[in-house]
Amino acid sequence: MEARKYKAFVVSEAAENQFVRQIEEKSVTELPPGDVLINVSFSSLNYKDALSATGNRGVTRNYPHTPGIDAAGTVVESDSPDFQIGDQVLVTGYDLGMNTPGGFGQFIRVPAEWVIPLPAKLSLNESMAYGTAGFTAALSVHKLLVNGLAPERGEVLVTGASGGVGSLSVALLAKNGFQVIATSGKKERQPLLRKLGAQGFLSRDEARDESGRALLRGRWAGVIDTVGGEYLATALKATRYGGIVASCGNAASAELSMSVYPFILRAVSLLGIDSVNCPRDLRLKIWSKLAGEWKVDHLEQVVTEVTLQELNPHIDLILAGRQSGRVVVDLSG
Ligand code: NDP
Repeated sequence: MEARKYKAFVVSEAAENQFVRQIEEKSVTELPPGDVLINVSFSSLNYKDALSATGNRGVTRNYPHTPGIDAAGTVVESDSPDFQIGDQVLVTGYDLGMNTPGGFGQFIRVPAEWVIPLPAKLSLNESMAYGTAGFTAALSVHKLLVNGLAPERGEVLVTGASGGVGSLSVALLAKNGFQVIATSGKKERQPLLRKLGAQGFLSRDEARDESGRALLRGRWAGVIDTVGGEYLATALKATRYGGIVASCGNAASAELSMSVYPFILRAVSLLGIDSVNCPRDLRLKIWSKLAGEWKVDHLEQVVTEVTLQELNPHIDLILAGRQSGRVVVDLSG
């Protein structure tokens, strides 16, 4: 039987540190070994994909490479008793799209441990509207809840609120009854963020304190920070006694420069969020919540849907911090 051919969005190094992106025809025989071959229907664009697509060696060591840390589709071959041909599944995180060819190709082959059965009441398209961003937002909310954050404790701040993780964090916190304040550099996104559940807004300038003070007026009971740097430091300094801060991103900076006073004088807790190697049992639990009691209303309004051919400009937008919401990639064409 002739090997299956498919289309993939491939990043190649044309000259040293010069990267080009183009759609290429590939064969499944080029995919790495693995237990499950999946025909990908939808993927999504995350910040890390943009880094991979522009030659960031911290994400992808070797090129040519097909990015895409998220994929949802149908099993077409399986060596695993856990998956049958025709099963609808999704894969997010692990090494997908980093050094394993990812969801920007119409086929992926991966270890069975990476594969999650598509939860009931979630379509393949919806699962990618969430993607790694939605999973990370839900993991952040889950960790805040299990560490004791409750709506009656006060306002919760979300930074980078117009982004993928940010907008879904706003929606999931609101769904859980929290009063959400959103930091965003994009005023035009306020109506949608309000619809998702934000009750107040801060500009980026208001969310970044440059006074050098070790502590600020305590306002936040909780925080989900997607941008890092001075925004995270400011949020920590302005967190109330006993408050909880989840750090999940570095869209502005990976640095954190501040004193320990919020921790030792205000008993503030800083939680780390990692979606990539999140244990499988917790992964299944979070996906089941996203498909069930936490299912975001108006999810489609957060999404821009593109084909592989239309993907390129969105990579530049997300790198520049100018992307809003989620970009779902339709690979069915
Ligand atoms: P997006 O680009 O969609 O969102 C990031 C948002 O941050 C932007 O929309 C913008 O929001 C804000 N922002 C961007 N650049 C700056 C800047 N220089 N200064 C201030 N604000 C800025 O990315 P994602 O939502 O996909 O990812 C957000 C972060 O989370 C990334 O750093 C990503 O790597 C990380 N991440 C981490 C994961 C984990 O497992 N821990 C998983 C997924 C993502 P606005 O204009 O509204 O201010």
